[in-house]
Amino acid sequence: MAKKYVYSFGGGKADGNESMKNLLGGKGANLAEMAGHKDLKLPVPPGFTLTTEVCTYFLDNKKTYPKTLKDEVNKAMSLVEKLMGRKFGDTTNPLLVSVRSGARKSMPGMMETVLNVGLTEKTIPAMIKQSGGNDRFVYDAYRRLIMMFSDVVMEKAAGIEPKDDQGIRKQLERIMDQLKKEKGYKSDTDMNTADLKKLCADFKVKIKEVLGKEFPDDPQAQLWGGIGAVFSSWNGKRAISYRRIENIPHEWGTAVNVQTMVFGNMGDASATGVAFTRNPGNGENNFYGEYLVNAQGEDVVAGIRTPAPINEYSKSGQNKDMVSLEKGMPKIYQELNLIQQRLEKHYHDMQDIEFTIENGRLFMLQCRIGKRNGPAAVRMAMDMLKEKKITKEVAVMRVTPAQLDELLHPIIDPKVELNTKPLAKGLPAGPGGASGQIVFSAHDAVTWFNNGRRVILVREETNPEDVEGMRAAQAILTARGGMTSHAALVARGWGKCCVVGCSAIHVDLANKELHMGDKVLREGDWITLNGTKGFVYAGQLPMMDATSENQLLADFLKICSTIRKLGVRTNAESPEDAQKARQFGAEGIGLFRTEHMFYGKGSDQPLFLLRKMIVSKTTEERKRALDELFPFVKKDIKGTIEAMDGFPVVIRLLDPPLHEFVPREAAKLDELAKDLNISRDELAKRAEGLHESNPMMGHRGVRLGITYPEVTAMQIRAIFEAAAELLKEGKKPYPEIMVPVVCDVKELDDQLAIAKQVYQETLAKYGLKSIKHMFGTMIEIPRAAFVADKLATVAQFFSFGTNDMTQMGFGFSRDDMGGFIGEYLSKGILPEDPFQSIDQEGIGEIIKLGINRGRSTNKNLEVGICGEHGGEPKSVEFCHRVGMNYVSCSPFRVPIANLAAAQAVLKETAGKKPVAKKKK
Ligand code: ADP
Ligand code: MG
Ligand code: MG
Repeated sequence: MAKKYVYSFGGGKADGNESMKNLLGGKGANLAEMAGHKDLKLPVPPGFTLTTEVCTYFLDNKKTYPKTLKDEVNKAMSLVEKLMGRKFGDTTNPLLVSVRSGARKSMPGMMETVLNVGLTEKTIPAMIKQSGGNDRFVYDAYRRLIMMFSDVVMEKAAGIEPKDDQGIRKQLERIMDQLKKEKGYKSDTDMNTADLKKLCADFKVKIKEVLGKEFPDDPQAQLWGGIGAVFSSWNGKRAISYRRIENIPHEWGTAVNVQTMVFGNMGDASATGVAFTRNPGNGENNFYGEYLVNAQGEDVVAGIRTPAPINEYSKSGQNKDMVSLEKGMPKIYQELNLIQQRLEKHYHDMQDIEFTIENGRLFMLQCRIGKRNGPAAVRMAMDMLKEKKITKEVAVMRVTPAQLDELLHPIIDPKVELNTKPLAKGLPAGPGGASGQIVFSAHDAVTWFNNGRRVILVREETNPEDVEGMRAAQAILTARGGMTSHAALVARGWGKCCVVGCSAIHVDLANKELHMGDKVLREGDWITLNGTKGFVYAGQLPMMDATSENQLLADFLKICSTIRKLGVRTNAESPEDAQKARQFGAEGIGLFRTEHMFYGKGSDQPLFLLRKMIVSKTTEERKRALDELFPFVKKDIKGTIEAMDGFPVVIRLLDPPLHEFVPREAAKLDELAKDLNISRDELAKRAEGLHESNPMMGHRGVRLGITYPEVTAMQIRAIFEAAAELLKEGKKPYPEIMVPVVCDVKELDDQLAIAKQVYQETLAKYGLKSIKHMFGTMIEIPRAAFVADKLATVAQFFSFGTNDMTQMGFGFSRDDMGGFIGEYLSKGILPEDPFQSIDQEGIGEIIKLGINRGRSTNKNLEVGICGEHGGEPKSVEFCHRVGMNYVSCSPFRVPIANLAAAQAVLKETAGKKPVAKKKK
């Protein structure tokens, strides 16, 4: 049997269903589900879907179709005709259709749709009759078709790339604006039949003039033109760029949906709208949406007119005086409300729906899982768990690490905000606070961003061509558009701070100025947005973190903790860090670097002593310096172990790049020379002696401890004495001593001997029997992984230092790779920066080998990771799979690691048993 390329839906039946997204695209699969599933059978206008396989065939075969396709389309069309009692292209009772794109994953506004297909000079009279003599409506539909078709099919799909403002759509819009101006009309709906008739004629002339071709006044030409254009739009520039950002594979292709037109623009008993089964901005369990009376669907998304709220709950400052659907068409609203409840129950998740009302009759045009921002995602997951709509496993899978990251993003310091008067207020479309310098174009946003600046993209309204700039911006501000406008949709998907529909601002693009009342802001001026409330402020307001007040987040993270198997620790440099991370749920410290005490505030004295130690020539000199340094090291270590009381703290022995610590200023050099009682010349000579041509591979880490055992001894003494004192104070210290830069077991033997001796001395000094501790090593040199079986006979734990392991494994210096890494990524030589996400096929294999060899000789070996990868979701999943005991990351990434670790468990079991409740 030939392959099936076309799937029908409508009349309470459907060939496909929701599970067939790969083949039917998201839109097609859900239209089938809504139309045909026995629990739904919703009023969906009948139609059919051309599969994504047709798209890949089309693009691979010079824009031709499989042989059997035409036949299948004709059959499917007859089915629709039978259901509707109308005929496509008929001059007595014509059927009009829309040709809609629909990829597997939604790509808001990226792909094309053509409405009113089948309307021609010949079918117009019959359409007027069909609509009860509403010729205004028919000509309005016709002018829309001409605009859309010339833009999507005749220009875009033909690969014509006009200059800014010279696109056919813009040119036709100018004709329309001109007419409206001449007649003094405010809105599109003011245009009468004669106006629209004239527009259509003028449009056709313009199209011929600009594109050199006639607008095809033929139903079949329109249908197939539309189908080909949608398929071609998959390879449009903006679609490709969106896929790159969203990591959507290029080979997926889009489906095409051909569907009976229903008309929201038939008059005042008609309308169209978009709604969410819960508020996507904050997650509240309330039906939320917008609609427009007497309009076609695209008008809502395009942000051309300010939409009205569907109910009282959806009212905002901008539309509070408009009539809601609830009040204006109460019966229809009730019906819609019931449907939205059934849909959410059916899908067990928040749905984003499109509906159209034609002369008092409701139709469902689309549903899909609604995008939401981070706060809303957590709230919905926790609420649906309480409502018993989902299990706790599903709740955990409902929040992406990126969404969680949003919750951890800064907000404007509330105290400052309270005392600052906003310049303007718009709709809160993306959460959190952000400040940046104003830019007025996507292109400028990208350029400024690449120059290291923080910008806020300010636009009248955004369109799909702006995505790269929106990405580069800290936040987005638009003057027009509602909560379902392009800017809001995209920002919500990314969790980016965004304010839309800020009608008080006026964007003067030509002069790069922003007017708000009598205030003028220019390109480069700073503004601050509150995307949670919709406020715009002048200048740069201070930000703060908001995580501590969020109980829902805390509850959510607690659930994650019960599911994950990996431990989550933090990399902390100070007792304050340790405290913060503990609040976030860190169960110990995976990396405490002693070097930090030589940087920044309060480091003068210890730094001086370290320098003294470094330039010491004799053991006596060095010991003296170490003795002076000792109390500082001990105090720091003690504070941190205490903050993590009861949890393990991995303390890495000193691993400083020595030469970096040699002072350069004359005054410091003098001071040091004086203290050591040597001449400046002598000091200079000693400093010279420390110079290394490749310090990264130089005299550092354990090598320092081997050449200067007293350096190791001092640190280990500090650790044990800190622990001993805490024990005496009734605390539960648990230090893990970690030796860095190890490549051979004999290095460990050497250092362990020192540790043992100091341990005994400390026990004696404090009169203790034992101090709980571990002795282990960092695995960061590839050789160490290969000899891990030997290392594990001495080490009780391994911690993978994946930063250095990546540097040495790739032979890339992280600090010097700026010159080529960009090219590597854009040419696809590397799929991503290996310092961001563990390179699983290379470095990951070294890690696996190290773990297996280590555990082969020491089955109790504790294994963790302390590189920056420890907080990156994909790397965390990897760490889970290879059987590590814990990951460690910076305090702010602890919640993300927690979630990623829980999801790693669920993804693993998902293969074995279904996680989500199966639908019957
Ligand atoms: P997108 O994926 O960009 O949302 P859609 O295919 O959903 O594109 O179509 C764009 C707009 O046209 C939507 O508002 C949709 O509701 C409307 N639309 C599409 N098909 C029809 C139809 N058959 N009847 C009425 N409106 C339609
Ligand atoms: Mg579209
Ligand atoms: Mg849509």
